[in-house]
Amino acid sequence: MSCSCETSVTNEPLYGRIHSIETGGAVDGPGIRYIVFLQGCNFKCIYCHNRDTWDATKGQKTTVDELMKEIKTYDPFFIASGGGVTASGGEASIQAKFVGALFKEVHKAGYNTCLDTNGYFVAYNEDQVNLINETDLFLLDLKCMDDERHKVLTGRTNKYTLEFAKYLKAHGKKMWIRLVVVPTYTDDDENARKMGEFIKELGDSVDRVELLAYHELGKHKWAFFNDPYKLEGITPPSAETMKHLRDLLKEYHPNVH
Ligand code: SF4
Repeated sequence: MSCSCETSVTNEPLYGRIHSIETGGAVDGPGIRYIVFLQGCNFKCIYCHNRDTWDATKGQKTTVDELMKEIKTYDPFFIASGGGVTASGGEASIQAKFVGALFKEVHKAGYNTCLDTNGYFVAYNEDQVNLINETDLFLLDLKCMDDERHKVLTGRTNKYTLEFAKYLKAHGKKMWIRLVVVPTYTDDDENARKMGEFIKELGDSVDRVELLAYHELGKHKWAFFNDPYKLEGITPPSAETMKHLRDLLKEYHPNVH
């Protein structure tokens, strides 16, 4: 028998649907990262640059064993840098069973695990709780503090994401908070201050705060799907805006980038 993760019902190996892999990443978690982009997303962010990850029925079917075989070839890099595996997407948590099983094996190999997530956890079922337990660091996107604007930006409420951050704090988990700065949507002082207050409440469970500038690199993917691009005419934020918002957030957290 091969893998520790076979389903008892069908005896079919557990597999994930993978959009793509990136090796040698250095920004999505500590050290050198092997990043698995999973297929499928439960948000529909209007600035999404990975529009092609949304359809959960697509992607390459891959087992944990197949991934681990490749991941282990980077062993010297992970060990030397304190790095490991980051699950991203799409939204990796919608394949919680697979990612939890993968992270379990990553831990057995001695590497770090990070989950890049929009935090839309509603049920906290067994697979999701297992995934949370197997995750060393969460890269949590707080897309917008105003719920109505959040719905416009993502198609979903921010309620569950905010609750998820509090859940992580209550369970002693570590997180990096990320905000994509989108002009006219999330570049205002009020949003940054509300976010700052929220981050302050999360205390030392937040290791780092990162502001990421909106960019248009994934725009062509929307055209491929014949989807109207709602941010037509919105240009990336200026360096001054990014610095201003970072300075503002530094009033609430010491480690803002
Ligand atoms: S959560 Fe991420 S992958 Fe999903 S729509 Fe938003 S930006 Fe795209």
